Amino acid sequence: MTLLSRPLVVLGATGSIGRRTLEIARRLGLEVVGIAARTPGPELVELANAHPTSRVVATGGSRDEREALRRAVGDRVGFGMDSLLELAASPDTTVVNGIVGATGLEASVTALTAGNRLGLANKESLVAGGPVIRRVLDSGRGELIPIDSEHSALFQLLSEVPAGHVDRLILTASGGPFRGRRREELEEVTVEEALRHPTWEMGRRITIDSATLANKGLEVIEAHYLFDVAYDRIEVLVHPQSIVHSLVRLVDGSLLAHLGIPDMRIPIQYALTYPDRRKVPLEPLDLTVGRLTFEPPDTEAFPALALAYEAGRRGGGSPAVYNAADEVAVEAFLTGRLGFCGIPEVIERTLDAVDAPEPKTVEEVLEIDRAAREAAASYIGGHC
Ligand code: MG
Repeated sequence: MTLLSRPLVVLGATGSIGRRTLEIARRLGLEVVGIAARTPGPELVELANAHPTSRVVATGGSRDEREALRRAVGDRVGFGMDSLLELAASPDTTVVNGIVGATGLEASVTALTAGNRLGLANKESLVAGGPVIRRVLDSGRGELIPIDSEHSALFQLLSEVPAGHVDRLILTASGGPFRGRRREELEEVTVEEALRHPTWEMGRRITIDSATLANKGLEVIEAHYLFDVAYDRIEVLVHPQSIVHSLVRLVDGSLLAHLGIPDMRIPIQYALTYPDRRKVPLEPLDLTVGRLTFEPPDTEAFPALALAYEAGRRGGGSPAVYNAADEVAVEAFLTGRLGFCGIPEVIERTLDAVDAPEPKTVEEVLEIDRAAREAAASYIGGHC
């Protein structure tokens, strides 16, 4: 079966990555055999109707909501995590994992173990479950193509150069809406301001993570597990225009850069068509319309980035702790229970409190995740 006739499963189908994936599938004429989302609401019904032969799974929702979905969709509906994992294990499929949160890890492991191609947008799979995913990939099962724009860029660059020629990876960061502000100027920022991302349009957690630079920290950890490169050889460079999606420095000092317009449809489509490429109906990048600028990250104003390096170097379960603490802190910020500067404070305290060994299974990752969440929740309140 050629890749482009391979059926597609979309997990997190109602989210920002999921919807764009389905739009691309429609344009490329790919068959969608499974869609899954957490909430069995009207959005999922709408997608189910648009894909009348696809299996439909909802992992959450009340009894009434689930019944309503069953009435609207019929026999092809399934509920709960087991049904979602069944979709992820569908043979000879490309599985796009756009689930938000640590629950995405088990789906990733299941898809890879079944020998599927995994288009990965779920950060937690590699951040919290890096050692587990690494183990599956190293055993030769499955194929992982990153969907995050920076990692897609690095994946493309690294496929052009022998590993021995690579000196370091350079991840670019937009710097978020608060770039250039000092730490004390960040104390009073509001949720609304933090949700206003200058270049990318994304879900709520990742947008806040971009404002704190925790997102870039998570991406450094992802790159470490994805490309098997030491933390000392991964750098972050702030590039507000988000045109250069990442760079690779070679041993002779040459830099290879990946440039493109900041639109997630490009890396998503690449994950579906790789090693082939297809046209994307977007205006090509015009380099004459603006300037490209670069600056070092301010880790004093945005300590979440430095904390991610620390968690990564500490290794073991620390990246999973970092991720869980950040998720809890961001949720608290979004609901007005924590100030913006409290986010890295909660991460730091949780990292110090929860000392976790390297997880070997999904269950061990989830155990660390639970312990870290509990610790993080106890530190919410009373911050800046
Ligand atoms: Mg990214």
